[in-house]
Parts: sequence; C-alpha cells; structure tokens
Amino acid sequence: MSIAGNVGLGDLPRICPLISRRVQPSENPEETRVVAVGSVRFGGIRPVVIAGPCAVEGYEQTLAVARAVKAAGAEMLRGGAFKPRTSPHDFQGLGVEGLRILREASRETGLPVVTEVMDTRLVETVSEYAEMLQIGSRNMQNYPLLIEAGKSGKPVLLKRGMAASLCEWLGAAEYIAKEGNLDIVLCERGIKAYPSGEYSRNVLDLNVIPAVKEETFLPVIVDPSHATGVASMVESASCAAIEYGCHGLIIEVACDHPGAVKPKCDAAQAINPATLEKIVDFIDARMERSVLRKAHAV
Ligand code: PEP
Ligand code: MN
Repeated sequence: MSIAGNVGLGDLPRICPLISRRVQPSENPEETRVVAVGSVRFGGIRPVVIAGPCAVEGYEQTLAVARAVKAAGAEMLRGGAFKPRTSPHDFQGLGVEGLRILREASRETGLPVVTEVMDTRLVETVSEYAEMLQIGSRNMQNYPLLIEAGKSGKPVLLKRGMAASLCEWLGAAEYIAKEGNLDIVLCERGIKAYPSGEYSRNVLDLNVIPAVKEETFLPVIVDPSHATGVASMVESASCAAIEYGCHGLIIEVACDHPGAVKPKCDAAQAINPATLEKIVDFIDARMERSVLRKAHAV
C-alpha cells in the first residue's frame, strides 16, 4: 500500500536537487558548504557559537547580554525582535525598535546578528538590520516566507519544524535555494515526541545531525535551549551536539549579575554567561585535542 504524500529519503534527489549531495556531484562527498556571515564561517573547522537573549527586551538588557556573550567567546549575537508566542496576550517583541537595539549591540561588540523574520512583508526591513535571517520552527513550511528569504540574498538560519521529517526540512531549504540563495544553515531545535513536556520541552534529535550531513552539504547547527527548555540541561546538550559533529550552537543567555532583570521570555532555559564560557571552553579543548593529534600524526 502506498500513502499519498508519503516520502522517504530516497525521494530527496527529486525533492531538493539543489542541496542534495546525491545530485550535486561538484560538492566533495565529505565537504560542507561554508556559509559566511561577516567574518563568521559556518561549516568551517570550528563550530560557531551564537548566543544572546531569547527576546530583545530593551537596550540595557540586550547590550549587557551582548557584551557578556562576546566576553564568553560567542561569535554571533541572537535575539528576537519579532517573537512567535503561543498566546497573543504575551510579549510579542519590540519590533523595529528591537532591530535598532540589535544593530546598536552589534556595533558595540562587533558581533553579527541573527534575528527571526515571521512575515513576508518584513523581510526587507529585517534584512536592513541583521546579517542573517532566522526562519523559526513555526514557519519552516511558510513557503512564501522561504521564497522571500531566498530572494533577500541574506544568509538564512532555517530551524527545523517541531514535527518535521528530514525530507520536509530539506524540502523547505530547497525553496530558499531555488531563489538562488545557497547560504542556508540548518538548525535542529528539538522535536515534539514522547516524552516532550515531561522533563524537557522537546526531544533533542541528535541522530539527525549525521543524517543531515549525509544528505546535504549545508551546515547544521543545534539549539540546545529550545530543545531542552531547561537551563541545567543546556551545557550537556551543547557538548553532546558538538560530539555528534554539528557545525555550531545557538544558545539563549541571560545575565545573572545583581539587579539583572529576569527575562520575559523563556527564562527557564536561559543559561548564564559563565555556563556559556564553559561550553566555549569545551569546544576550544576539543579543537586543541584535534590539532595536537594531527601534529603528532605527521
Ligand atoms: C527562537 O530561536 O527564538 C525561537 C522562537 O525558536 P524556535 O523557532 O526554534 O521555537
Ligand atoms: Mn526562546
């Protein structure tokens, strides 16, 4: 029996020929496409750490977090100016004012910015302020938005839909690629599966990292913050994801100095700057080990 609409990995050459390793012979079978965002390189030797607040809530908060994540070793700044919230009564983000704050924090720290765009009508505006556009989990299959993001020419961080198969996720990336934009970084952010919501927000699908690398040359990073929803799990999830071979992490951070204000959004999963530094130290140590091993081999 065949089921209408049912697709498997064998269908990927048809679904996403532009990003499929099986179809694009020019790409080295082992190699990842390097996606440049300013001076940052996704898919290079070193995993990239993006960090920042869940939401831009104000100038002071954003600048304090930006400075702290820079000091901890992050290479890029995250932060939502437009927030997809479950309730329309919850804080929706500061909008364009949030974009201005992000740009200011970027200017102060030198960190390039990635921020979410949720609306086709705002792609141009967000592109003026951010170095990289984020398409969130809830919008992974918003095809008009993917097309506009593709047309923008900006690098795109494409989060996996919360119940998306690998075929659906790569199909979404193909929409961006079809507009002539191959600067796409995929991001696993946890899926809804048993037992989501019991002791963690989502289930972190680490197995998808090697699967992505097998099927496409696009880099893949991990969001341990939304995958776990629990600050105490973020460090372990980050290190595990690095061991699994991902090309980077995107992590939510909140300052914990005396007088720091508790975030309005996703406070339970925000780690402090000291924990972020431990994650960066883990990456540094792993890189050093590999350099030393290679030096001994020659
Ligand atoms: C985010 O990164 O701010 C976010 C809302 O994540 P996701 O789309 O993965 O839920
Ligand atoms: Mn968040």
